[in-house]
Amino acid sequence: MRAMVLSAPGKPLQMEEREDPVPGNGEILVKIGACGVCRTDLHVIDSELPDVRYPIIPGHEIVGRIDLMGVDVTGHQIGDRVGIPWLGYTCGVCRYCQLGVENLCDRPLFTGYTRDGGFATHTIADARYAFPLGETGDDVSTAPLLCAGLIGWRSLIMAGNVERLGIYGFGAAGHIVAQIAVWQGRSVFAFTRAGDVAAQDFARQLGAVWAGTSDQSPPAALDAAIIYAPAGELVPMALRAVRKGGRVVCAGIHMSDIPSFPYRLLWEERRLLSVANLTRQDGIDFFKIVPQARIHIRTTALPLSEANDAIAMLRTGRLLGAAVLQP
Ligand SMILES: [Zn+2]
Ligand SMILES: [Zn+2]
Repeated sequence: MRAMVLSAPGKPLQMEEREDPVPGNGEILVKIGACGVCRTDLHVIDSELPDVRYPIIPGHEIVGRIDLMGVDVTGHQIGDRVGIPWLGYTCGVCRYCQLGVENLCDRPLFTGYTRDGGFATHTIADARYAFPLGETGDDVSTAPLLCAGLIGWRSLIMAGNVERLGIYGFGAAGHIVAQIAVWQGRSVFAFTRAGDVAAQDFARQLGAVWAGTSDQSPPAALDAAIIYAPAGELVPMALRAVRKGGRVVCAGIHMSDIPSFPYRLLWEERRLLSVANLTRQDGIDFFKIVPQARIHIRTTALPLSEANDAIAMLRTGRLLGAAVLQP
């Protein structure tokens, strides 16, 4: 197999040849068709998350086919098309697993962070955490669903069943969630960084009723807002934009510090929440919605060897939609 490997914090990824891995008990070997590049990969590369396991192969939006299966794999067949998400393993016995919130497991493994991921030709996954994908959609446009879509979905649920929804940061997750929210009959208000007219036009094309910059006030108070951009200064801005009792959901795994803000922005029962990881049930629910909502994913596909370019493009915001690597 070949893989783009991160050997130390902040280093460029390097192509390595390795022996093809052999799946152990309960594991599958997946030949990768496409793997999306997510902002979380930048946080792993920049060592903004604790306890990265070096050397690590990043990537947690994997679409591929099962090439080999270890013993004790149920529910999958050789040749099946599967998706491998961020949640790679949970312990099943901790308090959170027992409570049905495996996204908060005390001893989890995460794909492309604490176990090897999808910037590669092949990967090993715990079969229980791989989603069957069927044959709908091509690999490139399906890959971003595995994190941008899934975490986006979980954050949309957290935002509540509300009408006026603000989306701060209109990248991979934002453009997927906007389409689901519009399909559900909600009014979407899209907030981008200053001067990003392309993203604002893109949001309007996807059905947003309003698009502007993050420091602007929307034309009507929002019922809820979801923040996808990793910028802490958006938190007080979003709190300012939501109505009494409204929610602000932080959907990223990492954010720059939140500046201090007057208590009156939180007052009147506004709520500030974060979303962590995903559960397998989120995936089951989300992949039922995808064909119904007819989501169109905007992607920029690059060969696996150009992973560093894809990362640089994502870092500077020079992308509409999602970057995807193809081995
Ligand atoms: Zn657990
Ligand atoms: Zn991700």
